[in-house]
Parts: sequence; structure tokens; C-alpha cells
Amino acid sequence: MRDRYAIIGNPVMHSKSPRIHAEFARATGQDLEYGRIEAPLDAFERAADEFRSQGGKGLNVTLPFKEAAFRYCDRVSGRARAAQAVNTLVFGNDVFGDTTDGVGLVTDLTRNLNVLLSAKQVLLMGAGGAAQGVVQALLDAGVARLAIANRTLSRAEALAARFSGVTSCSYEGLAGHEFDVVVNATSAGLRNDAPVLPASVLKRGALAYDMVYGRDTPFLAAARAAGARACDGLGMLVEQAAESFLLWRGVRPETHSVLERLRAG
Ligand code: NAP
Repeated sequence: MRDRYAIIGNPVMHSKSPRIHAEFARATGQDLEYGRIEAPLDAFERAADEFRSQGGKGLNVTLPFKEAAFRYCDRVSGRARAAQAVNTLVFGNDVFGDTTDGVGLVTDLTRNLNVLLSAKQVLLMGAGGAAQGVVQALLDAGVARLAIANRTLSRAEALAARFSGVTSCSYEGLAGHEFDVVVNATSAGLRNDAPVLPASVLKRGALAYDMVYGRDTPFLAAARAAGARACDGLGMLVEQAAESFLLWRGVRPETHSVLERLRAG
């Protein structure tokens, strides 16, 4: 029987992960299956147990189950512990959890978009699962300053307090501050909305990055109109998938051509 993997979430039908992992498997000569599991909102554990009992080797975890997946694990990586969230489960004698979102974002920024993160002033917008998953990786990449802003300020404060040297504020509180890189880790773009930012925030030549992918969000459109470089989160999606594939199969697939084909539609 071929080794089986899947993405679990709700909703999950839109996910590009099955296509990405099928391309990785072909490119690396690995014989595996990768499907989708739409688990009921209150039944993550039951769905994961069932997949595992049927011989499943691993799961990618997406909204809204990344925190439930963290609690489901017997062991987690240091980066999953820092994020308190898991997007990759490895089923062996026990359940191991890791999060590859942070390294996926940093790889996209540095390798695909050629952004030298060290010494950069970085603003992270949002304090949900996606933001939690990338803070440690941005710090590890050597950013000079990391600020977190969120609509619900208390959530930004709580997230920043978990890491040394990270500051938090409201969107209005950003007036007069400027950044080289602004990462939108909110889900606002999915509803054609965007956090309202003071005009000062994007430095000349800044990179505006939206984790939402496959659409031109109001944040990216406004950033482009203000003269910034704008990029969606498709590269992060592909790079985090490659790191999951590495955890499961011991080989990291080449991502450039997969990303190009996804962008072509
Ligand atoms: P989440 O846990 O539900 O958090 C949502 C965040 O967005 C919260 O900080 C929330 O603020 C904020 N928000 C929602 N609507 C807003 C609005 N209209 N204005 C301002 N802020 C708003 O979601 P998540 O897991 O963090 O995911 C966020 C996004 O990242 C999703 O769209 C997801 O698809 C994307 N993502 C992409 C990748 C990738 O590989 N490209 C990976 C992970 C996630 P409050 O706290 O005030 O509610």
C-alpha cells in the first residue's frame, strides 16, 4: 500500500496542498497518496485518530485546527512549542508535531523574493494562528525590530509578551513609525478587507506581503499604490509544504518550478 498523507481542516476543499504534494512526489520519485479531510469543527481528534488507525503516515493541519493539533501531539519541536501550534503531524510509534509556517515564510522572503531580513524593521499584522507561527522564525532570521499590530490589541500584547524584544501596538498606534517589511497575517483579505494603516508605515521601497494567496487583496493593492513592492503568500504555502515533505520523506523537493506552475494557474 502507498504511504498516505492528507491535509485536515475546515473548510479544506479549496486547498492547493494536494496538488503541491503530488508535484513534490513526482519530482522526487516518491510513491505516496495525499488527500483532503474536512473534519467537523468539534471533531479534530476523532478524524486524526481515524486516519492514523487506517495507516495514515502524516497530516498537514490548517484552519482552525493548528492549536488542537498542538495538544494532540506526544512530542513537539521547539518551533512548534514557540508557536503553540502545529501544521505538520508525523505518525510513527508516537505523534510528533512541528510547524513549518515560519520557515516557509522566511524562505519565501529570503530565497524567492531576495529580501535580506537581517537589520530589517518588520511589522507583523495579526495575532492569530498564522502570526503565532512565524514570530520565532522572523527573530531567528535576525530582524532588527519586530512589532506586532492587531485589531484586538490584547491579543497582540499577549503574543509579543511570549518573545523577548518584540513590541505590540494598535494600528492607529503605528502613526509615525515606518517599516521595511510589512507582513499581513490577518484573514481580512479573504473578506476583501484590510487593516487600516497610517500612511507612514511603508518605507520607500518596502515589501508588503500578504499571507493570503491567489487574490489581489486590498492591503496589497493599497501598498502597490503607495509605491511598495507587493507579494501574496503563495510562495510561503509552497515552501512550508516542502518543509513538511522533508519531515515525512527525508528529502526537500525543489520548489521554484512548482511555484511557477501554480502561479500560471
Ligand atoms: P485566525 O487565527 O482566524 O486569525 C485571524 C487574524 O486576522 C486575527 O488577528 C484577526 O484579528 C485578524 N482579522 C480578521 N479580520 C480582520 C479585519 N477585517 N481587520 C483586521 N484584522 C482582521 O487566522 P490565521 O490562522 O491566523 O490565518 C490568517 C490568514 O493567513 C488566513 O487567511 C490564512 O489563509 C493565511 N495563512 C496563509 C499561509 C500560507 O502558507 N500562505 C499559512 C498560514 C495562514 P482579531 O484578533 O482582532 O480578531
